[in-house]
Amino acid sequence: MLYNFSAGPAMLPKPVLLEAQRDMLSYDGTSLSVLEMSHRSEPFLSIRNEAEQLVRDLLFVPDDYEVLFLQGGATLQFAMVPMNLAPGGRVDFIETGLWSERAFADAACVSDAHVVASSKADAYQSIPTLPAASDAAYVHLTLNNTLEGTRFTSLPDVAPPLVADASSCLFSEPIDVSRFGLIYAGAQKNIGPAGLTLVIVRKELLRAGSLPSYLRYDLHAKNDSLYNTPPTYSLYLSMLVLRWIKQTGVGRIHTQNKMKAKLLYETLDASNLFHNRVLKKDRSLMNVPFSTGDEERDASFLRYAKEHGLINLEGHRSVGGMRASIYNAMPLDGVEALCAVINRYEKEMS
Ligand SMILES: *Cc1c(COP(=O)(O)O)cnc(C)c1O
Repeated sequence: MLYNFSAGPAMLPKPVLLEAQRDMLSYDGTSLSVLEMSHRSEPFLSIRNEAEQLVRDLLFVPDDYEVLFLQGGATLQFAMVPMNLAPGGRVDFIETGLWSERAFADAACVSDAHVVASSKADAYQSIPTLPAASDAAYVHLTLNNTLEGTRFTSLPDVAPPLVADASSCLFSEPIDVSRFGLIYAGAQKNIGPAGLTLVIVRKELLRAGSLPSYLRYDLHAKNDSLYNTPPTYSLYLSMLVLRWIKQTGVGRIHTQNKMKAKLLYETLDASNLFHNRVLKKDRSLMNVPFSTGDEERDASFLRYAKEHGLINLEGHRSVGGMRASIYNAMPLDGVEALCAVINRYEKEMS
C-alpha cells in the first residue's frame, strides 16, 4: 500500500482511475477513447457540459457567472486576470507566499500592481491583517498557500471585487462564489490531472478588448470554452473527479478534510521532534509543512517514510523539510498511516 502526499499533480481518487481505465479504449459504448475524440463531437460535448454543471452544482455558482475551462495553469491566470480585468489599471495584492509573489510579479508586467498587505516579514507563517479599503480594480488573494501551509479563514471587506487563486483548495470546503469577481484554479491539486485550469468569473467583469484571442475571457465564454481545442482528457478526468466529489458532497468532504488535518496537526504538536510553525488559526487544511529543524534528520525521516509506503513528502524545493498534501482524494487511512510513522520514527530515534 502506497500513499502519495504529492502537492501536485496529486493523487486522484482510485474509483476515478478505475473508471478511466475501464473506458480507456471505448468511452460509453462509442468504441473511441476520449483521447481520440473531437472536442466538437456529441460525447465530448456531453462531458464538457456535465463538468460545467457539476462545478455549478457543487459550488452553487450564481447564474451571472461564467465557468471557463482553460489551459496554461494557474500561472497563465497571473497575467490573464489583470489583462482582462484591469489593463494598465491599479490592482492590489495580499502577499502570502511564493504563489502570490508570482501572481503579483506577472500582474506588475501588465498593470499597476501594489502589495497592500504581506506576511513576508513573518516568513509567511501567518495570514496578514487584511486591508479595510481599496480603490483598485480588484484585490487578489491566494486562498490556500500550498508551499507555506496557510489559508484565509476570512475575506477582506473591501469594495473592489476579490480575485482568488484557489488552486490548492477549491472543492475542499464550501465557498461563497458571490463574494468573488473571479476564482481560478489549476486542476492538478484537487480537481483532476494537470493541463486544465478552471476559471469562474462574474459576467459583468468581462468585456471585449484588444487582446490576442486566447487571452480573452469574453471569447472563451462566448464559445463555451471551445474557441480552440480544450485539454479534452484532463477535462474528462476532472468531470469524473467532480462526480466523485458529488457522491459525498462538498460539505461532508470539508468535514473529512478537517478531521484529517486535525489528526495530523495534533500529532505534530504533540511531537518533540517534528514541528509545524504556522500560526494555528491560519493553518491550511490541504498542505501541512513540517520539519525537525535539521536537514539531515529531515532527509532520514523522508527515507524512513518512503520505506513505509509514504511518498512525495518532500517540502517544496524553496522551503525544504517535509510537506504532507492531504487533498480531497487522500483517505483518512493515509493520514493515520503518516501519523503512525511520525510517532514510530520519533520513538526509534529517542
Ligand atoms: C500549484 C499552484 C500554482 C501554479 O499552478 P500551475 O498550474 O503550475 O501554473 C499557483 N497557485 C497555487 C496556489 C498553486 O498551488
